Amino acid sequence: MRDIIIIGGGASGLVAAIYAAKSGSKVTILEKNKTLGKKILITGNGKCNYWNDDQSLVHYHSNNSEILKSILTKENKEEILNLFNTLGIIPKIRDGYYYPYSSQATSIQTALIKEVELQGVEVITETEVLNIKKDNDLFQINTTNGIFNSKKVILSTGSHAYPKTGSDGLGYKLATTLGHNLIEPLPALVQLKANTPYLKEWHGIRSDVSVSLIENNQKIATQIGEIQLNNYGVSGICIFCLSGQATRGLYLNKQEQIAINFLHPFNINNKEEFINWMDQRNNLVKNRTISDLLDGLLNYKLINLILKLSKINRDNPWNNLSIKEKYLLGSKLTNFILDITGTNSFDQAQTCTGGIPLTEINPNTMSSTITKDLYITGELLDVDGDCGGYNLTFAWITGMLAGLGASHD
Ligand SMILES: Cc1cc2nc3c(=O)[nH]c(=O)nc-3n(C[C@H](O)[C@H](O)[C@H](O)COP(=O)(O)OP(=O)(O)OC[C@H]3O[C@@H](n4cnc5c(N)ncnc54)[C@H](O)[C@@H]3O)c2cc1C
Repeated sequence: MRDIIIIGGGASGLVAAIYAAKSGSKVTILEKNKTLGKKILITGNGKCNYWNDDQSLVHYHSNNSEILKSILTKENKEEILNLFNTLGIIPKIRDGYYYPYSSQATSIQTALIKEVELQGVEVITETEVLNIKKDNDLFQINTTNGIFNSKKVILSTGSHAYPKTGSDGLGYKLATTLGHNLIEPLPALVQLKANTPYLKEWHGIRSDVSVSLIENNQKIATQIGEIQLNNYGVSGICIFCLSGQATRGLYLNKQEQIAINFLHPFNINNKEEFINWMDQRNNLVKNRTISDLLDGLLNYKLINLILKLSKINRDNPWNNLSIKEKYLLGSKLTNFILDITGTNSFDQAQTCTGGIPLTEINPNTMSSTITKDLYITGELLDVDGDCGGYNLTFAWITGMLAGLGASHD
C-alpha cells in the first residue's frame, strides 16, 4: 500500500513528487515513458522557457478566471521561483523570459529528477496506467505493469498535446471515470489553417506584423510579432497566442478571421495613413513604379501577391492609380483578411485549451471536489497559457499545491 501515487512524471508530476516527499509522505511516480520529464526537453526550442517576469493574468486562459486567480497567487509564484533557486538553476533572463543559463532544457529536467531521487521518491517507469477504480477509500490503479494501490492519487498525465511525448489524452478518461466533467479539449498554441488559392504563393515568407483575431466580425485580440506564411495557413508565436481563442470559436461554429497589418513596423495602421505615406515616398523617390516604391519594405513575393490580389499592374506609377485602387492596396497591406478554417492537430499543438473544469477543484490544494483524495495538476485542467513560460508555470504551481495538499489533507 502506497501513500501517494502520482500518475505521470512530467513537469507538474515531478514538482508534486518533490513537495509531497519533502512533507514526509511516501511517494511513487508511475510514468509510461522510459524517462521522466520527456516533454520538458523540447520546451522553448530545447532551451526551456520555464518562467516569465510578466505574470499578468491576461497570459492565462480558462473558463473560470476567479479560481485561476486563487491558484496563481503571488505567494505561490514566489515559492516556485525559490524552488528553482534551491535546485541550483541559474536563470538566463531575456526580456523577462527565463531559461536555464546553459540554454539547455536538460538542465531543468536533470535538476528536477535529481531532487526527486534525493527526496526518496519511488519511480516506476515504462508503466502506463490504463484505468483507476476507487473501492473502500483506496485507489486501485491498473497498469501495463500490474495493479498498484494507494490512499491518494495525483493525476498529472498532461493533456492531448504533442502525444509523442507521452500525453496522449488518456488522462481525461481517467479523470472522467472518476466522476469529473470535461470541457472539450482542443489544440492550442498551434498553427492556423486557411483555404485560399494563393497560399502556395506566400509559402515560406516571414514578416513582422500586428495581427488581430476577428470573431463574428469583432476584433477580440491582437498580437505583435513575426508571422510565418505557409501553404496551409499561418504560424509564428503571434499566431500561436491567438490560436486558443480561434480554435474554441471554430468549435462553437463562430466565424474566425485574422486581420494582418504588414506595415505595422512603419507605424502605418490604415489605408488613409498608407496613402499619405506613399504620397510622401513618391515625392521623395521619383520616377518609380508602384512595385519599385514598395520594394524593400516587404518580401518581393508578398508585394507581387498583394498587387495581384488588388488587380494593380506592378509597373504602374503611383500617380496613375485611381483613389479606389490606392484604398484597396492600402487595405490589403494594413488589414489583410484571412478566413480561418481550422488548426493543425494535437500532434503539433504545444498545449490544449479546455480540460477538467476548475470548478471541480479546490484551488488551495488541487484536490478534486468530486472524488475524495484525488488531486489534478497541470495541462489536464482547463487552463492554457500564452507562449512565454506560462504553461510550465501553471504546471509547477499546481504540482506544488497538489504535492503539499495530498501530504497534509
Ligand atoms: C513543443 C513544445 C514546446 C513547449 N514549450 C514551452 C515553453 O517553452 N514554456 C512553457 O511554459 N511551456 C511550454 N510547453 C508546454 C509545457 O511543456 C506543458 O504545458 C507542460 O509540460 C505540462 O505539464 P504536465 O505535467 O501537465 O504534463 P506533461 O509534461 O505532458 O507530463 C505528463 C506525463 O504523464 C505521462 N503520462 C501520460 N499518460 C500516462 C498514463 N496513462 N500512465 C502513465 N504516465 C502517463 C506522460 O508520459 C508525461 O510524462 C511546450 C510544449 C510543447 C509540446
